[in-house]
Amino acid sequence: MPSDVPGIHHVTAIASDPSENLEFYTRTLGLRLVKRSVNQDDVSVYHLFYGDYGGSPGTSMTFFPYEGAQQGQVGTGQVSTTAFLIPGESVGFWVERLADAGVDADDPRERFGDTVIPFRDPDGLHLELVAREDAPAGDPPDGPVPDEHAIRGFFGVTLSLESAEPTADLLETMGFRETDSERHCRRYEADGELGYVVDVYEDPQAQRGRPGAGTVHHVAFQVTREDQPEWREMLTSHGLRPTEIIDRKWFESVYARTKGGVLFEFATKEPGYTVDEDIEELGQRLVLPEWLEDRRDEIEANLPALPTGGSGE
Ligand code: ZN
Repeated sequence: MPSDVPGIHHVTAIASDPSENLEFYTRTLGLRLVKRSVNQDDVSVYHLFYGDYGGSPGTSMTFFPYEGAQQGQVGTGQVSTTAFLIPGESVGFWVERLADAGVDADDPRERFGDTVIPFRDPDGLHLELVAREDAPAGDPPDGPVPDEHAIRGFFGVTLSLESAEPTADLLETMGFRETDSERHCRRYEADGELGYVVDVYEDPQAQRGRPGAGTVHHVAFQVTREDQPEWREMLTSHGLRPTEIIDRKWFESVYARTKGGVLFEFATKEPGYTVDEDIEELGQRLVLPEWLEDRRDEIEANLPALPTGGSGE
């Protein structure tokens, strides 16, 4: 058996305007742009990665910003909410910060005993800040948010499903355990420090999600290189049709569409975002994997303008 998944590796969503996306995640949320690259399956579109200072697994929120993208619809078969972890005493700081920045946010509420601040990014992507006393100190992004209040990484995701069972079974095989439930929502937790929560929200009546700006494309879970082939076999034994192991340069990935419709990825911790850039220089320039480097001029010419330099400053 492969070792249990400790939690989320990254979450990838669809945005529209790349500059607006960069500004929101680096300046408003204070994350660091840790990789500026292109969508390896469509090189006319950026792939922007935001995270903690070093882009540790469990911290990177990534985007494909398609200029002029149609708005998607959040619904079943999707990651409906992505939650970031903040320290327990940072609720007041963030309520004020989001309000000052004119962010579309709701009043804090309680869920499973934690204080949660729901808000939306400029494309309407559903996000949350979850405040917990046990948030790890981590490796803060060194951005505009003081270290003591900085986002630590992911808390977890909510999956919206027409029928929870097949996905819940898969999560259990991955090492997540059901720890709590409230009405239509079951909480699953892994043993990691970041991104260790998956809330499974079942609603057979809900509208089906439609991909587009403001929706999540996939959620990636963290695995080791050694275990990757076994996870692939496990997906097959669950009746899914995983891809081959794909080299994504900063990690190696296997993707499978779950029976509930959500696209899962299993991404390796190794080699990480510092494999092709020094940690101090992450995100400042467009980096391409070797197999796209000979097309750099053409790729750069087709990308929209985006402010250069670290952290969108
Ligand atoms: Zn991914």
